[in-house]
Amino acid sequence: MADTVRIIPLGGFDKIGMNMTLIESKDSIIAVDCGMSFPPDNMPGVTAMIPDVSYLEENVDKFKGIVLTHGHEDHIGALPYILGQLKVPVYGTPLTIALVEKRLCDFGVKGIKTKAIKQGATIVVGDFKVEFIKASHSIPDSVMLAIYTSVGIILSTGDFKLDMTPVTGKMSDISRITALGTKGVLAVLSDSTNAMTEGFSRSELYVFEQLDTMFSRYRGNRLIIVTFATNMDRIQQIINLADKYGRKMVMEGELMLEVFSAAQKLGYVEVPEEMIVDSDTINNYADGEIIFLTTGSHGKSVQCISEIARGSHPGIRIKENDVVLFSSIAIHGNEVEFNRTLNSLEEQGAIVVFQDLHATGHACAEELKLLFALLHPRFVIPAHGEYRYRREAKRIATEVGIPARNIFLMDNGDILEISRTPGKKETCDAISTALPEKTQTAGLEKGTEVLAAAITGHLPLCDILVDGNERTMIDRALIRDRQQLSGSGVVVIEVCIHKKTGRLASGINITSRGFLDENNSQGLRDELETAVSREISRFIGQGVHDERIAKGVETVAGALIGEMTGKNPVVIALVTNVMI
Ligand SMILES: [Zn+2]
Repeated sequence: MADTVRIIPLGGFDKIGMNMTLIESKDSIIAVDCGMSFPPDNMPGVTAMIPDVSYLEENVDKFKGIVLTHGHEDHIGALPYILGQLKVPVYGTPLTIALVEKRLCDFGVKGIKTKAIKQGATIVVGDFKVEFIKASHSIPDSVMLAIYTSVGIILSTGDFKLDMTPVTGKMSDISRITALGTKGVLAVLSDSTNAMTEGFSRSELYVFEQLDTMFSRYRGNRLIIVTFATNMDRIQQIINLADKYGRKMVMEGELMLEVFSAAQKLGYVEVPEEMIVDSDTINNYADGEIIFLTTGSHGKSVQCISEIARGSHPGIRIKENDVVLFSSIAIHGNEVEFNRTLNSLEEQGAIVVFQDLHATGHACAEELKLLFALLHPRFVIPAHGEYRYRREAKRIATEVGIPARNIFLMDNGDILEISRTPGKKETCDAISTALPEKTQTAGLEKGTEVLAAAITGHLPLCDILVDGNERTMIDRALIRDRQQLSGSGVVVIEVCIHKKTGRLASGINITSRGFLDENNSQGLRDELETAVSREISRFIGQGVHDERIAKGVETVAGALIGEMTGKNPVVIALVTNVMI
Protein backbone atom coordinates (compact mmCIF):
# COMPACT_ATOMS: atom_id res chain seq x y z
CA MET A 1 0.00 0.00 0.00
CA ALA A 2 1.54 3.32 -1.03
CA ASP A 3 1.99 6.23 1.37
CA THR A 4 0.89 9.40 -0.35
CA VAL A 5 1.30 13.10 0.32
CA ARG A 6 -0.25 15.87 -1.75
CA ILE A 7 1.08 19.39 -2.26
CA ILE A 8 -1.54 21.93 -3.39
CA PRO A 9 -0.70 25.62 -3.84
CA LEU A 10 -3.76 27.84 -3.39
CA GLY A 11 -1.76 30.98 -4.15
CA GLY A 12 1.73 32.39 -4.71
CA PHE A 13 2.44 30.41 -7.88
CA ASP A 14 1.54 32.89 -10.58
CA LYS A 15 1.89 36.42 -9.31
CA ILE A 16 3.68 37.90 -6.33
CA GLY A 17 1.79 37.59 -3.05
CA MET A 18 -1.13 35.55 -1.72
CA ASN A 19 1.14 32.70 -0.63
CA MET A 20 -0.65 29.62 0.67
CA THR A 21 0.23 25.97 0.07
CA LEU A 22 -1.52 22.90 1.45
CA ILE A 23 0.24 19.71 2.49
CA GLU A 24 -2.22 16.82 2.67
CA SER A 25 -1.96 13.26 3.96
CA LYS A 26 -4.75 10.67 4.23
CA ASP A 27 -6.12 12.18 7.46
CA SER A 28 -4.63 15.69 7.76
CA ILE A 29 -4.19 18.92 5.89
CA ILE A 30 -1.96 21.76 7.02
CA ALA A 31 -1.51 25.10 5.28
CA VAL A 32 1.86 26.80 4.96
CA ASP A 33 1.22 30.56 5.13
CA CYS A 34 -1.99 32.43 4.41
CA GLY A 35 -1.12 35.59 2.52
CA MET A 36 -2.91 38.32 0.65
CA SER A 37 -1.94 40.34 -2.38
CA PHE A 38 -2.78 43.90 -3.34
CA PRO A 39 -5.06 44.59 -6.29
CA PRO A 40 -3.84 46.61 -9.26
CA ASP A 41 -4.96 50.23 -9.68
CA ASN A 42 -7.76 49.24 -12.06
CA MET A 43 -9.89 47.48 -9.44
CA PRO A 44 -11.71 50.33 -7.71
CA GLY A 45 -12.92 49.63 -4.17
CA VAL A 46 -11.02 46.33 -3.88
CA THR A 47 -8.63 46.40 -0.92
CA ALA A 48 -7.08 42.93 -1.11
CA MET A 49 -7.04 39.62 -2.91
CA ILE A 50 -7.01 36.41 -0.86
CA PRO A 51 -6.76 32.69 -1.69
CA ASP A 52 -9.82 30.60 -2.46
CA VAL A 53 -10.13 28.12 0.43
CA SER A 54 -13.21 26.22 -0.80
CA TYR A 55 -11.19 22.98 -0.74
CA LEU A 56 -10.46 23.50 2.97
CA GLU A 57 -14.12 24.26 3.65
CA GLU A 58 -15.05 20.96 1.95
CA ASN A 59 -12.41 19.10 3.99
CA VAL A 60 -12.76 20.99 7.25
CA ASP A 61 -12.41 17.84 9.42
CA LYS A 62 -8.97 17.14 7.98
CA PHE A 63 -7.73 20.72 8.28
CA LYS A 64 -5.48 20.78 11.35
CA GLY A 65 -3.76 24.16 11.32
CA ILE A 66 -1.79 26.89 9.61
CA VAL A 67 2.01 27.15 9.99
CA LEU A 68 3.64 30.45 9.10
CA THR A 69 7.10 31.20 7.74
CA HIS A 70 7.20 34.95 8.61
CA GLY A 71 5.13 38.04 9.26
CA HIS A 72 4.93 39.71 5.85
CA GLU A 73 1.50 40.57 4.47
CA ASP A 74 1.87 38.26 1.50
CA HIS A 75 2.26 35.39 3.98
CA ILE A 76 -0.14 36.27 6.85
CA GLY A 77 -2.47 38.95 5.43
CA ALA A 78 -5.41 36.68 4.55
CA LEU A 79 -5.63 35.13 8.04
CA PRO A 80 -8.33 37.45 9.46
CA TYR A 81 -10.63 36.70 6.53
CA ILE A 82 -10.03 32.96 6.41
CA LEU A 83 -9.96 32.32 10.18
CA GLY A 84 -13.37 33.95 10.43
CA GLN A 85 -14.72 30.82 8.67
CA LEU A 86 -12.13 28.15 9.45
CA LYS A 87 -11.20 28.27 13.11
CA VAL A 88 -7.94 26.28 13.13
CA PRO A 89 -4.83 26.85 15.26
CA VAL A 90 -2.06 29.07 13.91
CA TYR A 91 1.64 28.45 14.56
CA GLY A 92 4.51 30.85 13.93
CA THR A 93 7.56 32.40 15.53
CA PRO A 94 7.01 35.00 18.32
CA LEU A 95 7.14 38.13 16.11
CA THR A 96 4.94 36.54 13.44
CA ILE A 97 2.37 35.49 16.05
CA ALA A 98 2.44 38.95 17.69
CA LEU A 99 1.59 40.48 14.29
CA VAL A 100 -1.13 37.90 13.64
CA GLU A 101 -2.72 38.46 17.06
CA LYS A 102 -2.76 42.23 16.51
CA ARG A 103 -4.40 41.74 13.11
CA LEU A 104 -7.02 39.28 14.46
CA CYS A 105 -7.82 41.72 17.25
CA ASP A 106 -8.19 44.62 14.76
CA PHE A 107 -10.60 42.53 12.68
CA GLY A 108 -12.52 41.28 15.73
CA VAL A 109 -11.77 37.61 14.95
CA LYS A 110 -12.01 35.72 18.24
CA GLY A 111 -11.51 32.16 19.48
CA ILE A 112 -8.40 31.34 17.44
CA LYS A 113 -5.62 29.36 19.13
CA THR A 114 -2.26 30.93 18.30
CA LYS A 115 1.04 29.44 19.38
CA ALA A 116 4.46 31.10 19.31
CA ILE A 117 7.18 28.62 18.35
CA LYS A 118 10.88 29.42 18.72
CA GLN A 119 13.28 29.07 15.80
CA GLY A 120 14.80 25.59 15.98
CA ALA A 121 11.77 23.96 17.68
CA THR A 122 9.63 21.13 16.28
CA ILE A 123 5.87 20.75 16.76
CA VAL A 124 3.24 18.21 15.77
CA VAL A 125 0.24 19.34 13.71
CA GLY A 126 -2.14 16.58 12.62
CA ASP A 127 -0.13 13.81 10.93
CA PHE A 128 2.88 16.04 10.45
CA LYS A 129 5.91 17.09 12.47
CA VAL A 130 6.99 20.61 11.57
CA GLU A 131 10.47 21.96 12.32
CA PHE A 132 11.07 25.73 12.40
CA ILE A 133 14.51 26.45 10.89
CA LYS A 134 16.13 29.89 11.23
CA ALA A 135 16.07 31.88 8.01
CA SER A 136 17.42 35.30 7.20
CA HIS A 137 14.96 37.64 5.42
CA SER A 138 13.93 41.30 5.65
CA ILE A 139 11.79 40.80 8.77
CA PRO A 140 13.11 39.19 11.96
CA ASP A 141 11.98 35.74 13.13
CA SER A 142 11.66 34.24 9.65
CA VAL A 143 11.83 30.47 9.26
CA MET A 144 11.95 27.69 6.74
CA LEU A 145 9.60 24.84 7.58
CA ALA A 146 10.71 21.22 7.40
CA ILE A 147 7.51 19.16 7.27
CA TYR A 148 7.99 15.50 8.12
CA THR A 149 5.48 13.35 6.24
CA SER A 150 5.08 9.59 5.91
CA VAL A 151 6.68 9.85 2.45
CA GLY A 152 9.62 12.08 3.42
CA ILE A 153 10.64 15.62 4.41
CA ILE A 154 9.11 18.54 2.53
CA LEU A 155 11.03 21.78 3.05
CA SER A 156 9.18 25.02 2.44
CA THR A 157 11.78 27.81 2.36
CA GLY A 158 9.34 30.70 2.83
CA ASP A 159 11.17 33.89 1.85
CA PHE A 160 14.87 33.65 2.60
CA LYS A 161 18.35 34.75 1.72
CA LEU A 162 21.71 33.45 2.85
CA ASP A 163 22.96 36.73 4.35
CA MET A 164 26.16 36.01 6.32
CA THR A 165 26.06 39.41 8.05
CA PRO A 166 22.41 40.19 8.83
CA VAL A 167 21.73 43.12 11.15
CA THR A 168 18.84 42.32 13.49
CA GLY A 169 17.85 38.88 12.29
CA LYS A 170 19.93 35.78 12.42
CA MET A 171 21.77 33.94 9.71
CA SER A 172 19.89 31.15 7.96
CA ASP A 173 20.72 27.92 9.78
CA ILE A 174 22.98 26.49 7.12
CA SER A 175 24.24 23.65 9.32
CA ARG A 176 20.66 22.44 9.87
CA ILE A 177 19.93 22.71 6.15
CA THR A 178 23.05 20.62 5.46
CA ALA A 179 22.01 18.04 8.07
CA LEU A 180 18.59 17.70 6.45
CA GLY A 181 20.29 17.23 3.09
CA THR A 182 22.34 14.38 4.56
CA LYS A 183 19.22 12.84 6.10
CA GLY A 184 17.39 13.03 2.74
CA VAL A 185 14.83 15.56 1.62
CA LEU A 186 11.81 14.54 -0.42
CA ALA A 187 10.83 17.90 -1.87
CA VAL A 188 11.73 21.58 -1.65
CA LEU A 189 9.32 24.44 -2.23
CA SER A 190 11.79 27.22 -2.94
CA ASP A 191 11.54 31.04 -2.98
CA SER A 192 12.04 31.96 -6.65
CA THR A 193 11.52 35.73 -6.37
CA ASN A 194 15.12 36.56 -7.30
CA ALA A 195 15.97 33.52 -9.40
CA MET A 196 16.58 35.81 -12.37
CA THR A 197 19.19 37.86 -10.47
CA GLU A 198 22.69 36.51 -10.82
CA GLY A 199 25.13 36.03 -7.97
CA PHE A 200 24.44 36.46 -4.25
CA SER A 201 22.06 38.97 -2.69
CA ARG A 202 23.70 41.97 -1.05
CA SER A 203 24.11 41.83 2.70
CA GLU A 204 22.29 44.30 4.93
CA LEU A 205 25.74 45.29 6.18
CA TYR A 206 26.54 46.65 2.72
CA VAL A 207 23.42 48.78 2.94
CA PHE A 208 24.68 50.24 6.21
CA GLU A 209 27.78 51.60 4.47
CA GLN A 210 25.65 53.14 1.72
CA LEU A 211 23.29 54.72 4.24
CA ASP A 212 26.20 56.04 6.28
CA THR A 213 27.52 57.84 3.18
CA MET A 214 24.12 59.48 2.68
CA PHE A 215 23.90 60.60 6.31
CA SER A 216 27.37 62.07 6.08
CA ARG A 217 26.80 63.80 2.69
CA TYR A 218 23.51 65.40 3.77
CA ARG A 219 24.58 66.21 7.33
CA GLY A 220 22.84 69.60 7.42
CA ASN A 221 19.67 68.69 5.47
CA ARG A 222 16.37 67.46 6.75
CA LEU A 223 16.15 63.75 5.91
CA ILE A 224 12.90 62.07 4.91
CA ILE A 225 13.45 58.34 4.51
CA VAL A 226 10.85 56.19 2.80
CA THR A 227 11.17 52.55 3.69
CA PHE A 228 9.29 49.26 3.76
CA ALA A 229 7.25 49.11 6.96
CA THR A 230 8.33 45.68 8.12
CA ASN A 231 12.02 45.81 7.21
CA MET A 232 13.32 45.94 10.78
CA ASP A 233 16.91 45.37 9.64
CA ARG A 234 16.75 48.57 7.62
CA ILE A 235 14.95 50.48 10.36
CA GLN A 236 17.53 49.34 12.92
CA GLN A 237 20.32 50.63 10.68
CA ILE A 238 18.61 53.99 10.30
CA ILE A 239 18.20 54.17 14.09
CA ASN A 240 21.90 53.36 14.56
CA LEU A 241 22.88 56.09 12.09
CA ALA A 242 20.48 58.61 13.64
CA ASP A 243 22.25 57.93 16.92
CA LYS A 244 25.70 58.30 15.32
CA TYR A 245 24.80 61.63 13.65
CA GLY A 246 22.81 63.01 16.62
CA ARG A 247 19.37 63.09 14.97
CA LYS A 248 15.91 62.60 16.47
CA MET A 249 13.40 60.51 14.56
CA VAL A 250 9.71 60.78 13.72
CA MET A 251 8.13 57.48 12.66
CA GLU A 252 4.99 57.55 10.50
CA GLY A 253 2.91 54.64 9.28
CA GLU A 254 0.54 52.40 11.17
CA LEU A 255 2.07 49.10 10.03
CA MET A 256 5.64 50.24 10.75
CA LEU A 257 4.71 51.29 14.28
CA GLU A 258 2.85 48.01 14.78
CA VAL A 259 5.81 45.85 13.70
CA PHE A 260 8.34 48.12 15.43
CA SER A 261 6.51 47.93 18.72
CA ALA A 262 6.17 44.11 18.53
CA ALA A 263 9.85 43.72 17.53
CA GLN A 264 10.96 46.07 20.32
CA LYS A 265 9.01 44.12 22.95
CA LEU A 266 10.73 40.92 21.80
CA GLY A 267 14.15 42.61 21.83
CA TYR A 268 14.64 42.39 18.05
CA VAL A 269 15.26 46.12 17.63
CA GLU A 270 16.96 48.54 19.97
CA VAL A 271 16.37 52.25 20.07
CA PRO A 272 18.15 54.80 22.31
CA GLU A 273 15.90 56.49 24.85
CA GLU A 274 14.18 59.70 23.70
CA MET A 275 15.24 59.28 20.07
CA ILE A 276 11.67 58.87 18.78
CA VAL A 277 9.74 62.14 18.89
CA ASP A 278 6.24 63.24 17.82
CA SER A 279 5.73 64.89 14.45
CA ASP A 280 4.33 68.05 16.06
CA THR A 281 7.74 68.71 17.69
CA ILE A 282 9.82 68.77 14.50
CA ASN A 283 9.99 72.56 14.43
CA ASN A 284 11.99 72.42 17.67
CA TYR A 285 14.92 70.90 15.77
CA ALA A 286 17.37 72.20 13.19
CA ASP A 287 17.22 70.54 9.76
CA GLY A 288 20.30 68.41 10.48
CA GLU A 289 18.83 67.14 13.76
CA ILE A 290 15.75 65.36 12.50
CA ILE A 291 14.79 62.34 10.38
CA PHE A 292 11.32 61.64 9.19
CA LEU A 293 10.91 57.88 8.65
CA THR A 294 7.81 57.21 6.58
CA THR A 295 5.89 54.36 5.09
CA GLY A 296 2.24 53.67 4.46
CA SER A 297 -0.50 51.30 5.44
CA HIS A 298 -0.28 47.66 4.40
CA GLY A 299 1.65 47.22 1.16
CA LYS A 300 1.86 50.91 0.38
CA SER A 301 5.29 52.12 1.43
CA VAL A 302 4.99 55.33 -0.61
CA GLN A 303 1.55 56.30 0.73
CA CYS A 304 2.84 58.73 3.35
CA ILE A 305 5.39 60.43 1.07
CA SER A 306 2.62 60.86 -1.56
CA GLU A 307 0.58 62.76 1.03
CA ILE A 308 3.61 64.87 1.92
CA ALA A 309 4.27 65.62 -1.77
CA ARG A 310 0.63 66.65 -2.27
CA GLY A 311 0.78 68.91 0.78
CA SER A 312 -2.00 66.96 2.50
CA HIS A 313 0.09 65.46 5.31
CA PRO A 314 -0.78 67.08 8.65
CA GLY A 315 2.75 67.03 10.10
CA ILE A 316 5.24 67.95 7.40
CA ARG A 317 5.61 70.21 4.33
CA ILE A 318 8.42 69.79 1.81
CA LYS A 319 10.92 72.64 1.71
CA GLU A 320 13.90 73.48 -0.49
CA ASN A 321 16.84 71.04 0.00
CA ASP A 322 14.92 68.41 1.94
CA VAL A 323 16.49 65.06 1.08
CA VAL A 324 13.96 62.32 0.31
CA LEU A 325 15.70 58.97 0.41
CA PHE A 326 13.90 55.91 -0.93
CA SER A 327 15.34 52.90 0.85
CA SER A 328 13.62 49.53 0.35
CA ILE A 329 10.16 50.29 -0.98
CA ALA A 330 7.25 48.47 -2.59
CA ILE A 331 5.27 50.20 -5.32
CA HIS A 332 2.85 47.32 -6.06
CA GLY A 333 1.35 48.48 -9.33
CA ASN A 334 0.99 52.12 -8.24
CA GLU A 335 3.63 53.38 -10.67
CA VAL A 336 1.54 56.29 -11.95
CA GLU A 337 0.96 57.66 -8.45
CA PHE A 338 4.63 57.04 -7.64
CA ASN A 339 5.90 59.02 -10.63
CA ARG A 340 3.52 61.87 -9.82
CA THR A 341 4.97 61.91 -6.29
CA LEU A 342 8.58 62.04 -7.54
CA ASN A 343 7.79 64.93 -9.90
CA SER A 344 5.98 66.84 -7.23
CA LEU A 345 8.82 66.41 -4.70
CA GLU A 346 11.41 67.69 -7.16
CA GLU A 347 9.21 70.62 -8.22
CA GLN A 348 9.13 71.67 -4.58
CA GLY A 349 12.94 71.67 -4.38
CA ALA A 350 13.53 68.33 -2.65
CA ILE A 351 16.59 66.23 -3.49
CA VAL A 352 15.33 62.74 -4.34
CA VAL A 353 17.79 59.88 -3.78
CA PHE A 354 17.35 56.19 -4.49
CA GLN A 355 19.50 53.89 -2.47
CA ASP A 356 19.82 50.15 -2.27
CA LEU A 357 17.75 48.93 -5.17
CA HIS A 358 19.93 45.84 -5.01
CA ALA A 359 19.53 44.94 -1.33
CA THR A 360 16.78 42.39 -1.26
CA GLY A 361 15.35 39.94 1.22
CA HIS A 362 15.25 37.12 -1.32
CA ALA A 363 17.91 34.63 -2.41
CA CYS A 364 19.55 35.22 -5.78
CA ALA A 365 20.64 32.55 -8.26
CA GLU A 366 23.85 31.46 -6.48
CA GLU A 367 22.07 31.15 -3.13
CA LEU A 368 19.40 28.94 -4.70
CA LYS A 369 22.16 26.84 -6.22
CA LEU A 370 23.79 26.47 -2.80
CA LEU A 371 20.46 25.55 -1.19
CA PHE A 372 19.70 22.87 -3.78
CA ALA A 373 23.25 21.53 -3.60
CA LEU A 374 23.12 21.25 0.21
CA LEU A 375 19.66 19.66 0.31
CA HIS A 376 19.89 17.25 -2.65
CA PRO A 377 16.09 17.06 -2.75
CA ARG A 378 14.34 14.37 -4.76
CA PHE A 379 11.85 16.89 -6.11
CA VAL A 380 11.91 20.66 -6.48
CA ILE A 381 8.83 22.88 -6.70
CA PRO A 382 9.85 26.48 -7.45
CA ALA A 383 7.41 28.73 -5.54
CA HIS A 384 6.71 32.45 -4.95
CA GLY A 385 6.70 34.30 -8.18
CA GLU A 386 5.71 34.66 -11.76
CA TYR A 387 6.20 31.82 -14.21
CA ARG A 388 9.46 33.09 -15.67
CA TYR A 389 11.08 33.36 -12.20
CA ARG A 390 10.04 29.82 -11.38
CA ARG A 391 11.19 28.61 -14.77
CA GLU A 392 14.63 30.11 -14.00
CA ALA A 393 14.67 28.41 -10.59
CA LYS A 394 14.04 25.14 -12.44
CA ARG A 395 17.04 25.81 -14.67
CA ILE A 396 19.19 26.53 -11.62
CA ALA A 397 18.08 23.28 -9.95
CA THR A 398 18.99 21.29 -13.07
CA GLU A 399 22.45 22.91 -13.02
CA VAL A 400 23.16 21.32 -9.64
CA GLY A 401 22.12 17.91 -10.92
CA ILE A 402 18.40 17.62 -10.16
CA PRO A 403 16.75 15.92 -13.17
CA ALA A 404 14.33 18.22 -15.02
CA ARG A 405 11.57 15.61 -14.75
CA ASN A 406 11.76 15.89 -10.94
CA ILE A 407 11.14 19.64 -10.97
CA PHE A 408 7.50 20.69 -11.09
CA LEU A 409 6.35 24.06 -12.33
CA MET A 410 2.92 24.10 -10.72
CA ASP A 411 0.00 26.46 -11.14
CA ASN A 412 -2.23 27.55 -8.29
CA GLY A 413 -4.74 24.74 -7.74
CA ASP A 414 -2.56 21.95 -9.19
CA ILE A 415 -2.43 18.80 -7.08
CA LEU A 416 1.03 17.22 -6.91
CA GLU A 417 0.86 13.72 -5.51
CA ILE A 418 4.03 12.06 -4.23
CA SER A 419 3.79 8.43 -3.20
CA ARG A 420 6.13 5.83 -1.80
CA THR A 421 5.50 2.18 -2.47
CA PRO A 422 7.59 -0.20 -0.35
CA GLY A 423 8.78 -3.62 -1.44
CA LYS A 424 8.98 -3.08 -5.18
CA LYS A 425 12.12 -3.04 -7.22
CA GLU A 426 10.94 -1.65 -10.48
CA THR A 427 11.18 2.05 -11.08
CA CYS A 428 9.35 4.38 -13.37
CA ASP A 429 12.31 6.77 -13.54
CA ALA A 430 12.53 6.34 -17.28
CA ILE A 431 9.34 8.20 -18.08
CA SER A 432 9.95 10.64 -20.90
CA THR A 433 10.95 14.18 -20.02
CA ALA A 434 9.42 15.27 -23.30
CA LEU A 435 5.94 15.09 -21.79
CA PRO A 436 4.24 18.44 -21.36
CA GLU A 437 4.85 19.79 -17.87
CA LYS A 438 1.22 19.40 -16.76
CA THR A 439 1.31 15.65 -17.40
CA GLN A 440 4.88 15.21 -16.23
CA THR A 441 5.52 12.33 -13.89
CA ALA A 442 8.67 11.26 -12.17
CA GLY A 443 9.71 8.17 -10.34
CA LEU A 444 12.79 7.20 -8.37
CA GLU A 445 14.00 3.99 -6.89
CA LYS A 446 15.24 4.26 -3.33
CA GLY A 447 16.48 0.94 -2.03
CA THR A 448 13.50 -1.35 -2.42
CA GLU A 449 11.02 1.53 -2.52
CA VAL A 450 9.62 3.46 -5.40
CA LEU A 451 8.96 7.17 -5.13
CA ALA A 452 6.62 8.55 -7.73
CA ALA A 453 5.39 12.09 -8.26
CA ALA A 454 2.83 13.49 -10.67
CA ILE A 455 0.37 16.33 -11.01
CA THR A 456 -2.84 14.33 -10.74
CA GLY A 457 -5.52 16.99 -10.72
CA HIS A 458 -6.44 20.63 -10.45
CA LEU A 459 -8.73 22.54 -8.10
CA PRO A 460 -10.76 25.22 -9.87
CA LEU A 461 -9.92 28.39 -7.93
CA CYS A 462 -11.57 31.82 -8.06
CA ASP A 463 -9.83 35.05 -7.18
CA ILE A 464 -11.44 36.23 -3.96
CA LEU A 465 -11.62 40.00 -3.80
CA VAL A 466 -11.98 41.78 -0.50
CA ASP A 467 -14.34 44.68 -0.67
CA GLY A 468 -13.50 46.80 2.38
CA ASN A 469 -13.65 44.38 5.30
CA GLU A 470 -16.05 42.00 3.59
CA ARG A 471 -14.96 38.74 2.04
CA THR A 472 -16.64 38.71 -1.32
CA MET A 473 -16.44 36.34 -4.28
CA ILE A 474 -15.15 38.12 -7.32
CA ASP A 475 -17.90 39.54 -9.47
CA ARG A 476 -16.37 40.60 -12.77
CA ALA A 477 -19.54 42.51 -13.68
CA LEU A 478 -19.23 44.56 -10.49
CA ILE A 479 -15.61 45.44 -11.22
CA ARG A 480 -16.50 46.25 -14.83
CA ASP A 481 -19.28 48.58 -13.62
CA ARG A 482 -16.85 50.32 -11.26
CA GLN A 483 -14.25 50.71 -14.01
CA GLN A 484 -16.94 52.05 -16.33
CA LEU A 485 -18.23 54.43 -13.65
CA SER A 486 -14.76 55.77 -12.90
CA GLY A 487 -13.91 56.08 -16.60
CA SER A 488 -17.12 57.39 -18.17
CA GLY A 489 -19.63 58.09 -15.38
CA VAL A 490 -23.30 57.21 -15.23
CA VAL A 491 -26.44 58.28 -17.14
CA VAL A 492 -29.86 57.76 -15.54
CA ILE A 493 -32.99 57.85 -17.74
CA GLU A 494 -36.28 58.12 -15.84
CA VAL A 495 -39.50 57.29 -17.67
CA CYS A 496 -43.06 57.32 -16.34
CA ILE A 497 -45.67 55.31 -18.32
CA HIS A 498 -49.43 55.53 -17.91
CA LYS A 499 -50.49 51.94 -17.24
CA LYS A 500 -53.90 52.11 -18.98
CA THR A 501 -52.99 54.08 -22.08
CA GLY A 502 -49.35 52.95 -22.40
CA ARG A 503 -48.37 56.54 -23.14
CA LEU A 504 -45.64 58.54 -21.41
CA ALA A 505 -47.19 60.06 -18.30
CA SER A 506 -44.56 62.82 -18.18
CA GLY A 507 -41.38 63.92 -19.99
CA ILE A 508 -38.24 61.76 -20.09
CA ASN A 509 -35.84 62.85 -17.37
CA ILE A 510 -32.13 62.41 -18.09
CA THR A 511 -29.52 62.99 -15.37
CA SER A 512 -25.85 62.09 -15.30
CA ARG A 513 -22.78 62.09 -13.07
CA GLY A 514 -19.24 62.21 -14.39
CA PHE A 515 -20.33 62.13 -18.03
CA LEU A 516 -22.37 64.91 -19.61
CA ASP A 517 -21.50 68.55 -19.41
CA GLU A 518 -24.97 69.84 -18.50
CA ASN A 519 -24.48 73.04 -20.52
CA ASN A 520 -23.16 71.52 -23.75
CA SER A 521 -25.15 68.36 -24.21
CA GLN A 522 -28.55 69.53 -25.41
CA GLY A 523 -28.11 67.89 -28.85
CA LEU A 524 -27.36 64.51 -27.29
CA ARG A 525 -30.24 64.89 -24.84
CA ASP A 526 -32.69 65.61 -27.65
CA GLU A 527 -31.49 62.60 -29.63
CA LEU A 528 -31.73 60.39 -26.52
CA GLU A 529 -35.27 61.52 -25.77
CA THR A 530 -36.38 60.77 -29.34
CA ALA A 531 -34.72 57.33 -29.40
CA VAL A 532 -36.02 56.37 -25.92
CA SER A 533 -39.53 57.53 -26.75
CA ARG A 534 -39.50 55.50 -30.00
CA GLU A 535 -38.27 52.40 -28.14
CA ILE A 536 -41.00 52.68 -25.51
CA SER A 537 -43.70 53.06 -28.18
CA ARG A 538 -42.37 49.94 -29.91
CA PHE A 539 -42.64 47.88 -26.69
CA ILE A 540 -46.10 49.22 -25.83
CA GLY A 541 -47.23 48.48 -29.39
CA GLN A 542 -46.18 44.84 -28.79
CA GLY A 543 -48.12 44.76 -25.50
CA VAL A 544 -44.91 44.58 -23.39
CA HIS A 545 -45.19 46.24 -19.95
CA ASP A 546 -42.49 44.55 -17.87
CA GLU A 547 -38.75 45.03 -17.18
CA ARG A 548 -37.94 44.38 -20.83
CA ILE A 549 -38.76 48.06 -21.45
CA ALA A 550 -35.97 49.20 -19.11
CA LYS A 551 -33.47 46.78 -20.66
CA GLY A 552 -34.44 47.94 -24.17
CA VAL A 553 -34.08 51.61 -23.20
CA GLU A 554 -30.63 50.95 -21.69
CA THR A 555 -29.46 49.15 -24.86
CA VAL A 556 -30.73 51.81 -27.24
CA ALA A 557 -29.45 54.70 -25.15
CA GLY A 558 -26.04 53.05 -24.59
CA ALA A 559 -25.60 52.46 -28.32
CA LEU A 560 -26.61 56.02 -29.22
CA ILE A 561 -24.27 57.56 -26.61
CA GLY A 562 -21.41 55.38 -27.87
CA GLU A 563 -22.09 56.42 -31.46
CA MET A 564 -22.33 60.14 -30.69
CA THR A 565 -19.56 60.53 -28.09
CA GLY A 566 -17.34 57.43 -28.34
CA LYS A 567 -17.87 56.93 -24.59
CA ASN A 568 -19.29 54.04 -22.65
CA PRO A 569 -20.96 55.25 -19.43
CA VAL A 570 -23.13 53.02 -17.21
CA VAL A 571 -26.73 53.60 -18.39
CA ILE A 572 -29.56 52.98 -15.94
CA ALA A 573 -33.22 53.17 -17.03
CA LEU A 574 -35.86 53.61 -14.34
CA VAL A 575 -39.31 52.84 -15.76
CA THR A 576 -42.33 53.50 -13.53
CA ASN A 577 -45.92 52.56 -14.34
CA VAL A 578 -48.57 54.94 -12.95
CA MET A 579 -52.30 54.38 -12.68
CA ILE A 580 -53.49 57.96 -13.07
ZN1 LIG B 1 8.69 38.16 2.95
